[in-house]
Amino acid sequence: MAKKQFQAESKRLLEMMINSIYTQREIFLRELISNASDAIDKIYYKALTDDTLEFDKDSYYIKITADKANRTLTICDTGIGMTQEELENNLGVIAKSGSLAFKQENEAKDGHNIIGQFGVGFYSAFMVADTVTVISKALGSEEAYKWESQGADGYTIEPCKKDMVGTEIILKIKSNTEDDNYDEFLEEYRLRSIIKKYSDFIRYPIKMDVTSQ
Ligand code: ADP
Ligand code: MG
Repeated sequence: MAKKQFQAESKRLLEMMINSIYTQREIFLRELISNASDAIDKIYYKALTDDTLEFDKDSYYIKITADKANRTLTICDTGIGMTQEELENNLGVIAKSGSLAFKQENEAKDGHNIIGQFGVGFYSAFMVADTVTVISKALGSEEAYKWESQGADGYTIEPCKKDMVGTEIILKIKSNTEDDNYDEFLEEYRLRSIIKKYSDFIRYPIKMDVTSQ
């Protein structure tokens, strides 16, 4: 399948994330959970004004699944989902790279760690994953689509199967290197502590499931 190219700005940010030297890599989870929560909010607000839509709070949640054997971490939500076009437009473009570059530059200058204090968004997934797969089915759509990227060299989009409306983000967690250990992002206690630290205020349930084989 032909790879589509990221916009120049997005590519720069991606490269920064992939080669990240940030000690606070853990914030990727905060970003993905906050996106999941935003997506559920969108269904919630739609239901307020659309009588044909029912918002049953119990069927809206975020689920984190760690699979140690396959080295995957999945963040699944029952939010509004994305159409093919939205996958393309929302995940292929970045608006904040300018401010990120500015902050990173200043961070380097004064030694303060600024990155953890503001949203770096979806691309932060590439700090811990070498492949990111997004499977999504938009509200009101019969089709689902799979967006996949190994980083700066582009992404693919193809139709796929998904029963429920919502989005699943599958991170193939990086292998350990001499200097970096990524195993922690597949450990239940570690994931729980990251969620507690950054996502305690999220108003939808965050479920967790960890399998070791
Ligand atoms: P921001 O959240 O600040 O808009 P992100 O980089 O985190 O920036 O996300 C980019 C966009 O991708 C979001 O605005 C949203 O439209 C879309 N998106 C990301 N994750 C999801 C998700 N789980 N469900 C639906 N849309 C999503
Ligand atoms: Mg976000």
